[in-house]
Amino acid sequence: MSSNYAAQFNELKQRLQEVYDLNRVAALLHWDQTTYMPPGGAPARGRQTALISKLAQEKFVDPEIGRLLDALRPYEESLPYDSDEASIIRVTRREYERAVRIPPEFMAMFRQHVSVTYTVWTKARPANDFSMVLPYLEKTLAYSRQLAEFFPEHEHIADPLIDFSDYGMRVSTLRPLFAQLRDALVPLVEAITSQPPADDSCLHQHFPEEKQLAFGLEVIKRFGYDFDRGRQDKTHHPFMTKFSLGDVRITTRVKENDLSEAMFSTFHEAGHALYEQGIKMDYEGTPLASGTSSGVHESQSRLWENYVGRSRPFWEHFYPQLQATFPEQLGNVSLETFYRAINKVQRSLIRTDADEITYNLHVIIRFELELDLLEGNLSLAELPQAWRERYREYLGIEPPDDKDGVLQDVHWYSGTIGGAFQGYTLGNIMAAQFFEKALEEHPEIEDEMRRGEFGTLHTWLKENIYQHGAKYTPAELLKRVTGQDLTIKPYIRYLRRKYGELYEI
Ligand code: ZN
Repeated sequence: MSSNYAAQFNELKQRLQEVYDLNRVAALLHWDQTTYMPPGGAPARGRQTALISKLAQEKFVDPEIGRLLDALRPYEESLPYDSDEASIIRVTRREYERAVRIPPEFMAMFRQHVSVTYTVWTKARPANDFSMVLPYLEKTLAYSRQLAEFFPEHEHIADPLIDFSDYGMRVSTLRPLFAQLRDALVPLVEAITSQPPADDSCLHQHFPEEKQLAFGLEVIKRFGYDFDRGRQDKTHHPFMTKFSLGDVRITTRVKENDLSEAMFSTFHEAGHALYEQGIKMDYEGTPLASGTSSGVHESQSRLWENYVGRSRPFWEHFYPQLQATFPEQLGNVSLETFYRAINKVQRSLIRTDADEITYNLHVIIRFELELDLLEGNLSLAELPQAWRERYREYLGIEPPDDKDGVLQDVHWYSGTIGGAFQGYTLGNIMAAQFFEKALEEHPEIEDEMRRGEFGTLHTWLKENIYQHGAKYTPAELLKRVTGQDLTIKPYIRYLRRKYGELYEI
């Protein structure tokens, strides 16, 4: 590196470090707000978070960063594509070019609109009154289109919105892929739900909170979650957050009458956290120090929650321990009964309560409706009815009201319409592709799970996925690790094998 490039690269990294730190401070404010802050802190906290985020944004779109990126272009081009330096410059440029296309006045207006819409939604949902949010959603849709139009080269109007969380994923790929998945899942759900339902009453007894939390922590410690660089606290809606690569936290929610709630949310968030804890330390302070997309992130949370945490080998080891933790509740419940209970498949109305299989149908419904709205093929006034029809068609049930229908998820009421849902199902699909590859290279992973050991799996994930952070796009990463593009085949194989053993399908 010539000394000129060295100085410019260092200056770029220093500026990026400041942006990163401001964003991590905003994350800390948000974590505190949703865990420990007393209600009286709310007004000031909203203002403080907005200020820090604005400062981070201003620092990032500083023309000096653009100048440094231009000056460093020949240096980047002289380096291998996957070198750390070239990747820092490349990913920074991608994010910078996107950020400067959106006028700050637009973002300010949109944020203001979203915060009002969110407040209205918190009242409209309990009141079961879609008409309260309708005029706000009309504006949200207009803003969403306007935001997409800052990227006029798009192939589909939803593509720029998808780019924000799942960079490079296109409607032209996702729409047929999701339709293929839907066509495979609808008859599968039909076949399963026409049989006697699994008895999951063993999960709905009284399970004291402290014991639930202790069991969950014990398991994720075995997964490899590093408590010197993390901790778990309680919140309303579980999430993972990061203040630096040395401080990656998770939150959970406990229901004393439902054993699965805290347990699987803990496994899920720990999966997100393992990804972030596994990123190469050298990336700290740069745009590479983060998971590469919401879909890949979700692939890791789902992998630990479902492919590991809802598997038979896993429970062959952990069920006796769970029984010892709750002898009165589970002492007389067989492993088979418990295993069937945690893998119960049923037609349900609420996405966040859905099982591993039907979950995707909930997501696909939302994804298809978003596209219809953005394309102008559906009006917002018709949305509640379209929601009901699609639920009947794909899931065989219809919500009795909008509260548990079109008003159930926060996404459309706290952000754009478009780009918010695809990551969940992409995560399930990619988790299968990654997990199948890991098992192919290391068939001993299943036997290790039977012994409560996860070292081979965790190391494989770190080496192939975690350490790279955001260096590769989701498509690049998938190809590099599995040799394949996105495909639902491994996912369908996994579901047929697992549920074929539980049901006649
Ligand atoms: Zn998640």
